[in-house]
Amino acid sequence: MDSFRPASANLFERSRRVVPGGVNSPVRAWNAVGGNPLYIARAEGSRIIDQEGRAYIDYVCAWGPLILGHAAAAVVDALVKAVPEGTGFGAPTAKEVELAELVGERMGGVEQVRLVNSGTEATMSAIRLARGYTGRSKVLKFDGCYHGHVDALLAKAGSGVESFSLPDSAGVPEGFTADTLLARFNDAGSVCGLVDRRCEELAAVIVEPVCGNMGVIPPEPGFLEALREVTARHGIVLIFDEVITGFRVARGGAQERYGVTPDLTCLGKVLGGGLPVGAFGGRRDIMARLAPDGPVYQAGTLSGNPVTVTAGLATLRALEGPEVYRELEEKGCMLEAGLREVLSRGVAGTVNRVGSMLTLFLGPERVASPDDARACDRERFARLFHGMLARGVYLPPSQFEAWFVSLAHSEEDVAATVAAFADWAEEEGARAR
Ligand SMILES: *Cc1c(COP(=O)(O)O)cnc(C)c1O
Repeated sequence: MDSFRPASANLFERSRRVVPGGVNSPVRAWNAVGGNPLYIARAEGSRIIDQEGRAYIDYVCAWGPLILGHAAAAVVDALVKAVPEGTGFGAPTAKEVELAELVGERMGGVEQVRLVNSGTEATMSAIRLARGYTGRSKVLKFDGCYHGHVDALLAKAGSGVESFSLPDSAGVPEGFTADTLLARFNDAGSVCGLVDRRCEELAAVIVEPVCGNMGVIPPEPGFLEALREVTARHGIVLIFDEVITGFRVARGGAQERYGVTPDLTCLGKVLGGGLPVGAFGGRRDIMARLAPDGPVYQAGTLSGNPVTVTAGLATLRALEGPEVYRELEEKGCMLEAGLREVLSRGVAGTVNRVGSMLTLFLGPERVASPDDARACDRERFARLFHGMLARGVYLPPSQFEAWFVSLAHSEEDVAATVAAFADWAEEEGARAR
């Protein structure tokens, strides 16, 4: 029993009896850092408040969706107005049209878009569509990129051979990953060679344009351009999984920030403003292959749910002007600079940041690939996590996650976070001596 947080500890104990591992998504169980997860009672702006009534500056932000912060007035007001009008019809609504138009305006490459209920559904459907469009079966993904829990994408590298993959979860038959090829993120030479060799079989290349699921790893200059060139040359569908980066790293996502337009884009997280959502969209000629116009089947009882769409519209409308992205950039930059200053006092590690998403890696001086990330000091990260928590800062409970800064984070929040890190680093230094 955690005597410091008895209410959370009690709930976790009850939860473990009736929910596998006590949680509805594995990373929430804090297995990477140890201890009982906080149970959250409510949240406001940059703060989450746990069952004990303690407030923490939150850098999880629901794993990315809450770019406006918790319980943002724009979203809450829109929901309060929308809910009494009905929470679902299973028939089209005006708001879905508005949201699709808004997405298209922000992302030039998304000529048509279909809403689904999660990022997983988005990538699963985009891959089916790419296969249906090209008539080919193989998909190439990158080691360290995460695209939800789609069977075919839960693939890890087979022994030694770069292009050979095995299931990365029990319950996924080998046959389900047999059509998945693996390549190294930020290694344009090897991936282009592989694509050239297997081009006749490849339906799609799927990539997180900024890797966000091994911690933040930005694309090296030329990497995304190389993927664009080689896929276009062979008629392979290039899919950007922008579930995290969409509306996060720029108004038009990573495709705007890096100036590379994919054929299909997967969205989620920010698009739902905190409610469950996903979407996939892109070139009109590819999207035309989708049912009911085309032969590729895809459907969803709650897809385009009016409550979800309301939260998404309110969020995207609040992200209209260039000043909001400037503000996110400034706050992210301030946090990065503060963390780096503390690292420079003798803590081994580095910070990777793209806009308002960043990761503090403990150990390596440079992280440009998932292999670099894997070299991090996970035990030290666990101490950092608990040290920051004790100082009122809630970080993602794993070294391999992105921290998210929202518009609700103030300069004072950022300064308090840096001060907490400095204080922890001092304690950690004393421990090491
Ligand atoms: C979160 C995430 C997904 C999966 O989205 P869910 O809504 O959790 O299914 C897919 N791709 C990326 C890049 C993600 O970060």
